[in-house]
Amino acid sequence: MNIAILSRNPKLYSTIRLKQAGEARGHKVEIIDHMKCVLFIEKKKPVVLYQGRRLDYFDAIIPRIGASVTFYGAAVVRHFEMMKVFTAVESQALIRSRDKLRSLQILSRAGLDLPKTIFMDYSRDTEGILEAVGGAPVVIKLLEGTQGLGVVLAENEKAAQSVIEAFHGLHARIIVQEFIKEARGIDIRAFVVDGEVVGAMRRQATRKDEFRSNLHRGGVATVVKLTRAEKSAALKAAKKMGLGVAGVDLLPSDRGPLIIEVNSSPGLEGIEGATKVDIAGKIFHYLEKNALKKKIQKDRV
Ligand code: ADP
Ligand code: GLU
Repeated sequence: MNIAILSRNPKLYSTIRLKQAGEARGHKVEIIDHMKCVLFIEKKKPVVLYQGRRLDYFDAIIPRIGASVTFYGAAVVRHFEMMKVFTAVESQALIRSRDKLRSLQILSRAGLDLPKTIFMDYSRDTEGILEAVGGAPVVIKLLEGTQGLGVVLAENEKAAQSVIEAFHGLHARIIVQEFIKEARGIDIRAFVVDGEVVGAMRRQATRKDEFRSNLHRGGVATVVKLTRAEKSAALKAAKKMGLGVAGVDLLPSDRGPLIIEVNSSPGLEGIEGATKVDIAGKIFHYLEKNALKKKIQKDRV
C-alpha cells in the first residue's frame, strides 16, 4: 500500500519507527509535512497538493499532528478523508482529543471515573471551587498544556488562590482538579490500537518533589500488566473518543483507575522501549485491515 505519515519532523523517533515498520511490511511509506500541504477545494474532487504534486495515490495516512497545529493538521486529515483515504486517526477524533475539557465531559458521560474537576470563568469564589473538589491540595491545569507543562500542584488554599488568579490574569483557561495523592507520582499509559491494548507502561516521576510522571519531565517508564479495571477503562475511553490509535493515561487511585487524558498522537519511544513490543507494526496492521476495504469513515461528533 501507499501510506503517508503526516509529520513535520522526519527525525523524531516515532516518525522513523513508523516508516521502518511500514517498509518492513512491504509498504511504500512517505513522510509528508502537513503544514506544507495545500488543500484544493472545488465541487467534488478534493485534492491535496504538495510541493507541486497531487497526493491522490495514498491508501492510508497516519497523522502525527502536534498540539500547536491542530486546526491546520485536522483540516489536512479531513481533506484526505474526503478523498476516501483511510486514516489511523479521524479528524473529528483528533480535534475532540485536543480539547481537555470536552474530553473529560465525554468520558464522564460514558461512566468513566476521573479526578473531580471544575471548570469556570473568572470567579472570586475560589473557596467554593476548592471545596467542590475536596479542598487543597489541588491540581490546576492549563487547558491548552501538554507534556506536563501548565500542570501545577497547589499545596494549600492560599497557593491555589494565587495560581488561579495568576492564570485568570493572563486570560488562560484552566481546570481545577482533585489531587490524587495515592498515585504518588505514578501514572499508567495504555496504548490502544483498534480496540486492543497493545502495550502498557507505568511512568514514575523520579524527583522526590515531582508529582508529574511525564517522560518529558524526567519520568521513567517500565512495562506493566494492567488490571482488568484498567484495561477496560482504557478501551472504553479510546472508543468513546473515537480513536483507533490512542494513548490513554490513567492514575491508579483508591477508588480504581481514573482517566486523566486520552492522547491522539501518543509517542512510540517510551512505550516500545518499556514493552519491547513492535507498536508501530500494530498500527500498520490496523491500516492493512481497513484501508483496502475502502471502509468509509464517518465523522462522529
Ligand atoms: P499533560 O497533558 O500536560 O501531560 P496531564 O493532565 O497528563 O497533563 O498531567 C501530567 C501529569 O501530572 C500526569 O501524568 C500525572 O502524573 C500528574 N497528574 C495529573 N493530574 C493529576 C491529579 N489530578 N492528581 C495527581 N497527579 C496528577
Ligand atoms: N508526547 C508524548 C506522548 O504523548 C508525551 C510522553 C510523556 O512526556 O509522558 O506520549
